[in-house]
Amino acid sequence: MRIAFCSSEVFGFAKTGGLADVAAALPAALVKRNCKLKVFMPLYKGIAPQKMHKDYGTTISGGIEFFFIKNDEYFLRDSIYVGKDGRDYPDSVERFAFYSRRVLEILKGIDFKPDIIHCNDWQAALVNVYLKTLYSKDKFFENTKSVLTIHNMAYQGMFPKKKFSYIGIDKKYFDQKYLEFYGKVNLLKGGIVFSDMVTTVSPTYAKQIKTKGYGCGLEGVLAQKGKHEIGILNAIDYNIWDPSKDELIFQEYSPSELEKKTVNKLGLQKELGLGEDSSKFVLGMVSRLAEQKGIDILSDALDTILEEHQVVILGLGEPRYHKILKEKEKKFKKSLSVSLKFNEELAHKIYAGCDVFLLPSRFEPCGLSQMISYKYATLPLVNHTGGLADTVIDVEAGGGGFVFNKYDSKELIRTVKRAAKAFKDKKTWQSILKKVTKYNFSWEVAASRYIRMYEKLLREKNS
Ligand code: ADP
Repeated sequence: MRIAFCSSEVFGFAKTGGLADVAAALPAALVKRNCKLKVFMPLYKGIAPQKMHKDYGTTISGGIEFFFIKNDEYFLRDSIYVGKDGRDYPDSVERFAFYSRRVLEILKGIDFKPDIIHCNDWQAALVNVYLKTLYSKDKFFENTKSVLTIHNMAYQGMFPKKKFSYIGIDKKYFDQKYLEFYGKVNLLKGGIVFSDMVTTVSPTYAKQIKTKGYGCGLEGVLAQKGKHEIGILNAIDYNIWDPSKDELIFQEYSPSELEKKTVNKLGLQKELGLGEDSSKFVLGMVSRLAEQKGIDILSDALDTILEEHQVVILGLGEPRYHKILKEKEKKFKKSLSVSLKFNEELAHKIYAGCDVFLLPSRFEPCGLSQMISYKYATLPLVNHTGGLADTVIDVEAGGGGFVFNKYDSKELIRTVKRAAKAFKDKKTWQSILKKVTKYNFSWEVAASRYIRMYEKLLREKNS
């Protein structure tokens, strides 16, 4: 099967969140299943392709050809989506319209007729829009089916009406049946309407987004897709996330030597200037600091949690959360560490060195951190929503995590207390840790689900 995979970020080249992890790991897993993959992303600052062509670069790695679409004015910027004010660049329609057109033109230029074009999120959604508008009569793509994967409904790529002309499609598509959304241009909506299949990253989130609130206004459009809207659970790459061969952590460990986690805990405490004490209950968090991630309830709960325990936070995001968390850190120097940066190495150290990993998300399309935590024998503590509901079962129900059912700081505190109590029972705690390290959230399983979906789609007649 020939697949063109389009994503605005790919781990190894550019990453701001889970999308990048998926965009690296899923193509790699598909290649192992004999698919032919071309992956398309913009040529951002800092990316050095192996070969430069006139207006794109290429790199071949792991059997995949990566295409980097060049436009220095659009893509050579310090940050990939947002300006210093924290808002989407106002010319993102132009930027990603340019990117999307180039994807289709390059496919023709290199004569790669894809069976499937698989786009991700609003940044790449226009590829599928163009396929059904500007290229609808193009014989080259007559047998191509299009898939859009939504990693988060909260990011839709919405822009003022005046930006519509930059997309370059007939103005009849500025209509509520297509790209128009309450007077604005909505790129994700266009992608949903025009894609043959829409997927999201967990079964529960796939159901949730067809309901008010979770669908962020697009619940009706999604509900209309019927069986062409499904959830496929994300996975993680165990080549990157494996404490037995992780060179970024203080001490590697396998499931049979979990006592070595102590070295990682002490190392983390020392590096971050926390009280060095292996008996302390340490909770960690590695996250975008966005409203979605539960920072509100966590900051309300922190004072109580920090009376007895330690908390380590690594994250970057909204300035208001930076401020709140840094102020708390000043107050609790020996028990709270807040690192406001994006840092792979510290992330690995946190997964390895903590006892519990916090995911108090208000909503969560899938979440990767809980799967990573299991592998590092760090138990996730989560709000029951989206992908977290699909992957974390409470220890009291025989699972390997701590779950609360109401988005509220009191519930969070109660659950932390329950986890801390469980931590004191060393024997039971160790047996839960052993169990979760055996969980398998590998891309092999997820990739076969994607292939089944592609095959089913290819059997359908062109509409
Ligand atoms: P989202 O895509 O909503 O940000 P996910 O749970 O799907 O959330 O993926 C988050 C990924 O990004 C995980 O691999 C997590 O470890 C990583 N990550 C998030 N923030 C940081 C950070 N500040 N430094 C390093 N890694 C981070």
